[in-house]
Amino acid sequence: MKVADRVRQTPPSGIRKFFELAEAADDVISLGVGEPDFSAPWAAREAAIDALERGRTSYTANRGRADLRERIADHVSRYDHDYDPEREVLVTAGASEAVDLAMRALVDPGDTVAVPQPSYISYGPTATFAGAEVLPVPTRAADDFELTERALREAGADEADALIFCYPNNPTGAVMDADALAPVAAFAREHDLTVIADEIYAALTYGGEHDSIATLPGMRERTVVIGGFSKAYAMTGLRLGYALAPPTAIEAMNRIHQYTMLSAPTTAQFAGLEAIRSCADAVDEMHDAYDRRRRYVLSRFREMGLDCFEAEGAFYVFPECPGDDEQFAEDLLTEEGVAVVPGSVFGEGGDGHLRVSYATGMDELREATARIERFLD
Ligand code: PLP
Repeated sequence: MKVADRVRQTPPSGIRKFFELAEAADDVISLGVGEPDFSAPWAAREAAIDALERGRTSYTANRGRADLRERIADHVSRYDHDYDPEREVLVTAGASEAVDLAMRALVDPGDTVAVPQPSYISYGPTATFAGAEVLPVPTRAADDFELTERALREAGADEADALIFCYPNNPTGAVMDADALAPVAAFAREHDLTVIADEIYAALTYGGEHDSIATLPGMRERTVVIGGFSKAYAMTGLRLGYALAPPTAIEAMNRIHQYTMLSAPTTAQFAGLEAIRSCADAVDEMHDAYDRRRRYVLSRFREMGLDCFEAEGAFYVFPECPGDDEQFAEDLLTEEGVAVVPGSVFGEGGDGHLRVSYATGMDELREATARIERFLD
């Protein structure tokens, strides 16, 4: 069977290879996965069960249930967002669908999408599937992996049509506050870039509130904000996310969504409604647990002499490693049974680093860091 060129030319995810190696080995502690080790809060699960028991198994409105859109709009006001639930909110099957819709609805074949590197692995491929060219924009350890105006300029992003990024960042854990975002916003305005801001980790910011680029002057009208329930509410398997944007963009994204997905999973929408309504305490508890683990892992890596900048978001740290990162990760897995992801799978600038997820229990983190220390010795 013929496979489309743009699919054939997209390599499989580099993370997969490590998961497969890890699955094949015994007694492995995985610091590789990018998903919470917690289950969704019980009240959210109960709401999903209740919806099923009541037989609420039909489609919803394409854009998502009106009450959920209202609750999302209300919820994101904590980040100074102000979106009309009727016209400016779209409920999607995970943030992933929202990223894909934004690419396909707002980018033409042949357009250029600037993608800071290292980056979440989906951005390049979704741009490619939309027929766009990907322009890598390297970010640097010396800048704590923040996206800078200089990096955009040096990469030639003034010629790009769109820019996609996520802060808090996967894979580095970097965050960017309003001051750091301001020059990026100025660059986007000056060069008329559409911005896709993936803010799925917004609630997992430590030591400060999350700032959104969409709230900076002149940015709301050119930005699609993407959020979701997977990380903050530990709901990865329920597949629920959303996009916030001006009506033209939401209308365009919904045009694709209504022909392809129809509506986000109904059961998940009920879980999401309840999650926002009553699960703030559970989110706080998970947030605080991640923060304790983050500080523990950072201090252990520093004790071992691994250079590791102060990652302040998501649930990843991104230490430097001696030698080639792929080799290091492979040897660490075979010799000590600890799975981490080599930084180079996340693109330029990720090499020489490891993505270490601390979305795992304290006992595992203690044992894994002891094994890493032994391996380094
Ligand atoms: N965006 C980023 C930055 C992520 O790290 C992930 C998952 O790892 C996603 C989006 C996918 O989110 P969802 O499960 O809502 O599709």
